[in-house]
Amino acid sequence: MTEKNTTFATRVLHTGNEIDPVTGAAAFPIYQASTFHQEDPWNPPAYEYARSGNPTRNAVEDAVAKLENGTRGFAFGSGMAAITTTLFLFSQGDHIVACDDIYGGTFRALTQLINRFGIETTFVDATNLDEIRAAIRPNTKGLFLETPSNPTMKIIDLAGAAQIAKEHGLLSIIDNTFMTPYLQRPLDLGIDIVVHSATKFLGGHSDVVAGVVVTRDEELGKRLYFLQNACGGVLGPQDCFLLQRGLKTLKVRMDASCAGAEKIAQYLYERGDIEKVYYPGLPTHAGHEIQKAQADGFGAVVSFDLGNEARARKLMERVQLPLVAVSLGAVESILSYPRMMSHNGMPANERLKRGIGDGLLRFSIGLEDPDDLIADLEQALK
Ligand SMILES: *Cc1c(COP(=O)(O)O)cnc(C)c1O
Repeated sequence: MTEKNTTFATRVLHTGNEIDPVTGAAAFPIYQASTFHQEDPWNPPAYEYARSGNPTRNAVEDAVAKLENGTRGFAFGSGMAAITTTLFLFSQGDHIVACDDIYGGTFRALTQLINRFGIETTFVDATNLDEIRAAIRPNTKGLFLETPSNPTMKIIDLAGAAQIAKEHGLLSIIDNTFMTPYLQRPLDLGIDIVVHSATKFLGGHSDVVAGVVVTRDEELGKRLYFLQNACGGVLGPQDCFLLQRGLKTLKVRMDASCAGAEKIAQYLYERGDIEKVYYPGLPTHAGHEIQKAQADGFGAVVSFDLGNEARARKLMERVQLPLVAVSLGAVESILSYPRMMSHNGMPANERLKRGIGDGLLRFSIGLEDPDDLIADLEQALK
């Protein structure tokens, strides 16, 4: 069997790194070594120093790269390390266009870190491709997108955005954390670079903080490898092992969580006393048709607005099943309050402009029985 004619369910288990080539061990070993003996320094071996390369890391980097239909993968100590390292592709005087409804940490990196190096970012509502076009300047070099966006689940037309990036010679970067390569493969749609917080669905068990970058173009892969080694924010071998282990169940976890999310979004929508329900699987969602066309599912995250802080607080106090916590994409359901968690780093006026009000909650559906989660919401919302 070649890799090409197997489906994702099979490929996620048979990435080529599932067996230790040295011993045949069924789980790829943790090479807990920082340096490697060189028999002949004039003929350096494949591995020299673990910041530059570690077999456990390379195994998981390769696995994610293959699942994204890329050629090179790079694992980092967090999603933010993956994202900031990627942003070092840009130089002083460059300009980036980014979607306005973006992960709070990415917003912070663009507006309080990368800007200090003379790299400016303009935020636009990228669901409207004309807004992307209108923001492009002679010095624009990058397009940074996230779809579905966090936390209000806006959907951006990736093929359309990639086309604009090509026409203007921009590097296009997409944060694929919410979808994972199981549901959405941006490189196939013409995007240049995929970034992930692997802390979320790829790891999947709330036990590892990690990030991944994937590229297809060989030259771009070389530039990212240079940056990974130069910045040095690599993922350690123990965490690489956990990530590899989490990845094996990605498909079945996503199937179950997405089915749960669809059911819960429908329940919240039908209640009639919820101000807004944001889920691209709802036919009333503005991006529903685009999502259907460019992805293989609607994801496991549902956001909803209870209108005010008092009601949101009551719900968080009363729910019994979900973790009330930062993060998402785990086996257990996680209820987050973006205002004080993921988007705490965003100024209030910017936050409110993006629809992240005091009553907004983000619900990442885990693997519990969705009917139990609904019963829990029901008692908490009473
Ligand atoms: C969590 C998250 C990040 C940041 O990743 P860390 O692993 O927490 O550094 C980036 N983008 C999205 C969409 C996220 O959810």
